[in-house]
Amino acid sequence: MPFVPIEDGVVKMYTCGPTVWNYAHIGNYRTFVFEDILRRYLKFKGMKVVQVMNITDVEDKIIKGMKRTGKSLEDLTSFYEAAFKEDLASLRVEPAEIYPHATEHIGEMVSLVKKLLEKGYAYRAEDGSIYFDVSKFKNYGALSGIRPGELKAGARVKNDSYDKAEANDFALWKAWDAEDGEVFWETELGKGRPGWHIECSAMSMKYLGETFDIHTGGMDNKFPHHENEIAQSEAATGKQFVRYWLHSEFLNIEGEEMHKSVGNVVYLRDLLTEGWAPMTIRLFLISASYRDPINLTQTSLRQAEAERERLQQFARRLTSVSGPASSRGEKAKELLDSFAGAMDEDLNTPAALAAVFAFAKEINNLIDGGRLGREDALEILESVKRVDSVLGLLSFDEGAISQELKDLIELREAARGRKDFAAADSLRKQLLARGIVVEDTPEGTVWHRATKG
Ligand SMILES: [Zn+2]
Repeated sequence: MPFVPIEDGVVKMYTCGPTVWNYAHIGNYRTFVFEDILRRYLKFKGMKVVQVMNITDVEDKIIKGMKRTGKSLEDLTSFYEAAFKEDLASLRVEPAEIYPHATEHIGEMVSLVKKLLEKGYAYRAEDGSIYFDVSKFKNYGALSGIRPGELKAGARVKNDSYDKAEANDFALWKAWDAEDGEVFWETELGKGRPGWHIECSAMSMKYLGETFDIHTGGMDNKFPHHENEIAQSEAATGKQFVRYWLHSEFLNIEGEEMHKSVGNVVYLRDLLTEGWAPMTIRLFLISASYRDPINLTQTSLRQAEAERERLQQFARRLTSVSGPASSRGEKAKELLDSFAGAMDEDLNTPAALAAVFAFAKEINNLIDGGRLGREDALEILESVKRVDSVLGLLSFDEGAISQELKDLIELREAARGRKDFAAADSLRKQLLARGIVVEDTPEGTVWHRATKG
């Protein structure tokens, strides 16, 4: 089914962003990288993208985090938001156009809840909290296939996250209780705070309209979060909320589901500290289709590392071909066609990568045989750059120091600036793995290339 945006040439896309109570784990980054590939490919196809990614800066886990650390809401969430944006930059995820914060949109959430109360889709419970009545919304469960259980009618959940595969009335507005401490707003709905789900409905519709093109997220957000977003939004507007939903599958660790209770949660920063380059991790993350689970192992990372190096060498080699004209101009176009052919099949990144590798092999053979001219090589290089505008894996400016390395050095300075020495140290190790030694001197940070030993 071809994708057609509502407005010709413009794609409006909403991406569930992080709850900034902790570092995001590598499974979260699988989703963020998949969304980045999607937005970059839409741009490759000539479309303009308006992407909104919310920052959830008030939610149950944040309040627990405040208790644990003794930090204020603002201190806790701004720290993890900055860390999140650093992680995105290191994985070369393009920034979204708009990053709305939940705490700055309480007014919009209150209006939406009021509308749901007026229309009879919401009710106030004994403790003053306001719930969405799933039995009133007849399409509830259409996205996930989870239907309200007849016996469970009227069962309620106040928690923002709930795993149980059963539909319950969920909290739109949580009346203040002692557990919330200083986190509350005095509003027309009373003293309290919004539920997590209403945040995304209010912020997506504010910036993208009541009906927009694409909503993405991880599989774990499909139920209940996205199901609840649809129910709240469509009940309030009477219109279709989202035209295309895309969910990325789970990331497993050594064949096992990643879960806190298993103790195998891996953070991006762990992998960086182990010395894996961000672009190796990015290549690994797109080595499976977003619709398939992916398995993180040392072997899969080593394979991604070797593959990325092979591609980088290919790009480097194209710049140094010096043969005479060979009239192989059609080759440059072949690469773009085979790449787009694979990506048009529901963003089939493994097939797209396979096409790029097959192409590199063929061109390497031509170069080996002295059958590729400089002009053609440079034309092919332009196609490789265009493909990499989507994949985001290569460095083309390897002069004194690549932009990627410059970025890492800057990220490290920023980490030192805010005294996050663990992050700074991890970035130092990454730079070292890439042959760059950084030293902190009284005059500031300096860097030089490691001498080959
Ligand atoms: Zn969301």
